[in-house]
Parts: sequence; structure tokens; C-alpha cells
Amino acid sequence: MSNLEADVWRDLVKLPPINFTCGYCGAKTGNNRGYHYGYSNNEYAIYICPSCGCPSFKDGDLMKPESSYGEPMNGLPDTVQSIYDEARNSFKVGAYTGVILICRKILANVAVYYGAKDGQQFVKYIDYLVENGYVPEKSREWIDKIRTEGNSATHNQTAKNKDDAQRILDFVQMLLLINFKFNSDYNNSENNN
Ligand SMILES: [Zn+2]
Repeated sequence: MSNLEADVWRDLVKLPPINFTCGYCGAKTGNNRGYHYGYSNNEYAIYICPSCGCPSFKDGDLMKPESSYGEPMNGLPDTVQSIYDEARNSFKVGAYTGVILICRKILANVAVYYGAKDGQQFVKYIDYLVENGYVPEKSREWIDKIRTEGNSATHNQTAKNKDDAQRILDFVQMLLLINFKFNSDYNNSENNN
């Protein structure tokens, strides 16, 4: 990701102020500076992100690039970090079957990270996460959906839809938050005391 200074862009003009989530750095931000398209046209413009200085294109009600879905997380295990970002980016571009397949791989990698045997069937990894307390017991209904959806994404010809992809990505995000982010934040705050 580039880190530019928003003020260094030349000949910036005043634009109608808007709020947006930057597709580059993920900042929830807003600005009123950038570039017009023609005169008195609020449909198209270029806004500069005050946080990272990168330009976003306002196309009607959309800002492009769109922001990734889900919460950015750092400090994940190597086998999880890059594919988690890949899942969020796939969601952003509407590659929903891809989201589901990547999320299955994340779930398998997390199970292996916590000691499950490598090279098993997907359902075995899910069972491992549930049986060893890495997934809240009460999310069992979700888990059953993810089991069956994952199978149809792998074996059926039909493309998966947004809702299915969102469900499994939300679930993966929750799993990573409680097992990695929360734990490491907790440890860090303990160390600081
Ligand atoms: Zn930015």
C-alpha cells in the first residue's frame, strides 16, 4: 500500500464533502478535496484519502476501489494471514465461490495450527474446532450450514451467492477474532501492566 501525503497532490479543488471507507488503507474517512469531472457535476469526482493519500474515484454512489469486506487483522499465523486478506478481497470483487473455498482453507489451516492432523476431510477440521473449544458451542447451527455450503461450492457447478459467502466470511472473522486478535490484545495489555 502506498503512503502518500494528501496535500502533495497538485491543484486540488474543493468538492462537496463526503464520507467513505478507503479501498486502499481501509480508513473510515471523508474529504472535500480532490478533482472535478467537468463543471457542476457531482456524479463523478476523484477524492484523495486524507489517511493514505491515495485517490478514490466517485462513480455515482460508489467509491472505487471499494473497500474490502470484514475487519482487517494483523498478527495471524502465516498460513492464515495472506489467505484471509485474499478472502476479503475476493468478496470485494464479487468472487463469492472463491470466498467460500478460501474460507474453507482458512478453517482447515486454523485447525492444523491448533494441532489437527493435516490432510483430513473438511468436516473433520470443523469437528476438531468445535470439540476443542475454538468455536462457541452455540454457533453449531451456523457451522452445519457452513459444512453443507462448503460442500456444494466444491462439488456443484452453480456459482455461490453473496449471502452464502458473507455467512462463512463472517464466521471465519469471528473465529480469528476470538482466537487470535482478542488473545494477543489481551496478552499485550497484560504485558504492559
Ligand atoms: Zn486511504
